[in-house]
Amino acid sequence: MPQKEISLGGYDRKPHYPQVHEGGLLIFQNRHVKFVFVTGGVLSSVGKGIVTSSIGKMLQARGFKVTVIKIDPYVNVDAGTMNPYIHGEVYVTDDGGETDLDLGGYERFLNLNLPKDNNITTGQIYQTVIDKERRGDFLGRCVQIVPHVTDEIKRRIRLVARRSKVDVVLTECGGTVGDIEGLPFLEAIRQMRLEAGFQNTLYVHIALVPILDVTGEMKTKPLQHSVNELRRIGIQPDTIIARCRKMIDSEVLRKIALFGTIPEDAVFCSYNVSSIYQVPLILDEQGMGKYVCKRLGLLERKPEWSEWKKFADSFVNPRFEVKIALIGKYAGLVDSYVSMNEALRHGGAACQSQVSIDHIEAETFERDSSKLEILKNHDGIFIPYGFGPRGTEGKIEAVRFARENNVPFLGICYGFQMAVIEFARNVCELKGANSTEINPDTPHPVIDLMPEQRNIAYKGATMRLGAHKIRVKKGTLAHKLYGADEIQERHRHRWEVNSDYWDTLKKHGLVFSGKSPDGRRMEILELPSKFFFFASQFHGEFKSRPGNPDPEYYGFIKACLDRKLGKTKPKF
Ligand code: GLN
Repeated sequence: MPQKEISLGGYDRKPHYPQVHEGGLLIFQNRHVKFVFVTGGVLSSVGKGIVTSSIGKMLQARGFKVTVIKIDPYVNVDAGTMNPYIHGEVYVTDDGGETDLDLGGYERFLNLNLPKDNNITTGQIYQTVIDKERRGDFLGRCVQIVPHVTDEIKRRIRLVARRSKVDVVLTECGGTVGDIEGLPFLEAIRQMRLEAGFQNTLYVHIALVPILDVTGEMKTKPLQHSVNELRRIGIQPDTIIARCRKMIDSEVLRKIALFGTIPEDAVFCSYNVSSIYQVPLILDEQGMGKYVCKRLGLLERKPEWSEWKKFADSFVNPRFEVKIALIGKYAGLVDSYVSMNEALRHGGAACQSQVSIDHIEAETFERDSSKLEILKNHDGIFIPYGFGPRGTEGKIEAVRFARENNVPFLGICYGFQMAVIEFARNVCELKGANSTEINPDTPHPVIDLMPEQRNIAYKGATMRLGAHKIRVKKGTLAHKLYGADEIQERHRHRWEVNSDYWDTLKKHGLVFSGKSPDGRRMEILELPSKFFFFASQFHGEFKSRPGNPDPEYYGFIKACLDRKLGKTKPKF
């Protein structure tokens, strides 16, 4: 009898590498790139972003090149128009993308500068598909989620793979498995296994394992349900990460493997640690790096962790503590200032200091100015980015407190603008000085809309965004901190210092130590008579990295520490 052929359900098929359109040219998919897809279950905020970055770190520690994509299933084209109070900070890339804050997490963890294309949203996908439909690209056909929307998703993922020239592309799927809006993305990554091949794709599922307060038991049922939900969509995870307060015990691990239909050595646990920088270390200890390499057919190399460990350990036994007051409008949500919080900590790690940050609502000082006294308990005052009038008077009062009491001060973007307003009002005696963003009828618009912004009605991606050059003046604090005549920093703003007031501000002692190369835009200010009074129109936090803090953040924390230690001048 002739032998009947047994099919392996597609896994025996040779992977095919579809062609990708780039700028009208046909290009071929890089044959060796590997794809890791990370999904989350049970609930959001289980630390998918940190786990995704940690997988990247384990691969980097073994010498592999990686990039990371964040998929956000919301219909916004980008994060730029979303409220930070609900969604968290808007991250800004070098190329001027306004992206999800997870991109910042990847950049910091993996020391990368990612392009905006690495943040894919439903809005972008639909915009492209509908544009094509209107152009007539699908003439005669009915345009559908499968294949047209899913094809566009895959095209964008492959485009990132192709452009970044890496060994592994990690893709984090935002939201939770089972969300309606996430379905087309999950369908697209399901198809990618058939196209890229079993050995070139890895599905990682991370889900919460709660511990019951009453019995102290670790419960895997919600995780089992989310794995089932994933399977219903057609994705069988290759590895499962249990997100739990404590390390899961072997019984729980066995159960997860059994119900997840995966080997026990493919189950890992991301438990609570003192700093996020420990997560790649604890996952690698459990064998995750080795497993991922083996499963993807990547040559297993000995990981090199020494530099990373040095930084991660600097949080464990700090010699000093520095207490910062962050006075903002979105103080109720720590994620609103995540890059700033991290940059302050990077600065702290570089001077062996733990940085504790009190997030204070600026309006507190408007209701009751005696509350400013609480700032006496802090080593430094920090005014972050912001938009709109709410809380600005409180911020201005806090700047005044810092200046008058010689408390180290750092202002970023709106914080820079607040410092200009405070100085104009209280030192230059320009009564009622303000920004036209706050009071369009102010008698002294020391901060005004940039001329090129005047006729812009569209809100999406129209601010002055991304990396721009800054000339740094010799002999200033800025020059000392940056050690360069020219730097590049990221921006996100519409308003600027009004040139009509430059001379008055300077005459009263304000030094503009950084300007745009054409001299039209004030970028850094400082008050040399103070212990440390520094502000920038740009956002240094977006380029700050563990072990390599941004100079303005480092300078600020070092100054706070030096003042606390009783020095007469900060030592850089
Ligand atoms: N609202 C201010 C502007 O648009 C500051 C923006 C910011 O702090 N990112 O110029």
